[in-house]
Amino acid sequence: MIGMVIYSATFSDVSSANEASSQEELMSQRMSLYMQFQNHIVPWYYLAAIDQYERNIQAVRPDIPKRESTAAIQFSKESWAGALNPQQGDTSPFTIKYFGGIGMDGNGDGIADPADDEDVMLTMSNYLSQFGATEEDFKLSLYEYYQNELAVNQIVSIAKLYKHYDKIELDTHVFPVPVRGYNYSYRGTWGANRGWGGRRIHEGTDIFAGYSTPVVSTSYGIIEIMGWNEFGGWRVGVRDNHNTYHYYAHLAYFNKDLKVGDIVEPGTLLGGVGSSGYGKEGTSGKFPPHLHYGMYKFNGRTEWAFDPYPSLRNWEKYTRQQKK
Ligand SMILES: [Zn+2]
Repeated sequence: MIGMVIYSATFSDVSSANEASSQEELMSQRMSLYMQFQNHIVPWYYLAAIDQYERNIQAVRPDIPKRESTAAIQFSKESWAGALNPQQGDTSPFTIKYFGGIGMDGNGDGIADPADDEDVMLTMSNYLSQFGATEEDFKLSLYEYYQNELAVNQIVSIAKLYKHYDKIELDTHVFPVPVRGYNYSYRGTWGANRGWGGRRIHEGTDIFAGYSTPVVSTSYGIIEIMGWNEFGGWRVGVRDNHNTYHYYAHLAYFNKDLKVGDIVEPGTLLGGVGSSGYGKEGTSGKFPPHLHYGMYKFNGRTEWAFDPYPSLRNWEKYTRQQKK
C-alpha cells in the first residue's frame, strides 16, 4: 500500500492520479474476489496467479478474447457446459453437471454464467480443490488444464511472489543501474546487427557503464537462471508476474547471496557490470563493459524478445523521481 501511495504521488497531473486510484480500487476488488473463493485446499494466491497469468496472455494474444472484467480467467464453452451438452452456452448448474461441465454458480443466483466473476472464480477454485493441497497437486492441476510446462512454471512463479509479498500490487519497476553516482549510457538499437548480445540480431539494450557498476533487478520476480552462458557470460534470468523474463548479461560478478529460485524485487542487487562472455567460462574483456538487458514475453505458447528500450526510458525517469 505504501508503495502505491509513493507511486501516485509522483504523478504531476490529475488524470494520472485518478487512474492510479482507480487501479488501486481494481486491485482491491480482485483481492476480495480471491479471498472470497479461497478454501482450505486452494489459497487465494493460487487463484490470483492463474487469473494474472490469463490476463497476461490475453494482453498479447490476438487469437483469444480479452475478458473485460475484474477477473480474467475464462473457460472454453465445452469445458464450462460439458463437451456432450447439446446446449452450447448452457447456464443451468444441473444440466451442466449432468453433461460433465465444470461451470458453477458462485453468487447464488441459480445460474452458472461464464461472464460472472464469482461463478468463474468458484469454478476455478472447485477445479483446483479436486487435486489436493500440496504444491505438486497444484502443478498437476495446472498441467492438466494448460498442457504446457512453461505455463505451469509461469503460474507457479506468480503464486510464489503473491504468497511471499501477501499482495498482488507488484508493478513497480526501477532502472537496472543506479541513476545517480555512476556514469552510464544507452541507446535504442533494437534489432541492430551490432551490439554484444549473443544473437546475430541484437535482442536487447546495451547499457554501457564502468566495471562493477551495480546491476539491480528492474522488477519483482523469481531467479530462473544464474550462471555461465557462452555468449551472455555470467548472466541472470528473472521471471516476473507479467509473463516477462528479464535477462541481465555480461556481468563481472554475481550477488553471492542469491541463487536460482530466490525472490528478487525492484532494486535487489544481482551483480556488477562486466564484459564476460563470447567464449568458454571465465572469458572476459572481448568488448567494452556493459549490461546487456533483454526482455522476453511468454504468450502461453512461445517466448519472444521485445524491445526493452521504451520500458528502460520510463523506469529511468521513475527512478530519478524517487527520493535519494
Ligand atoms: Zn547487448
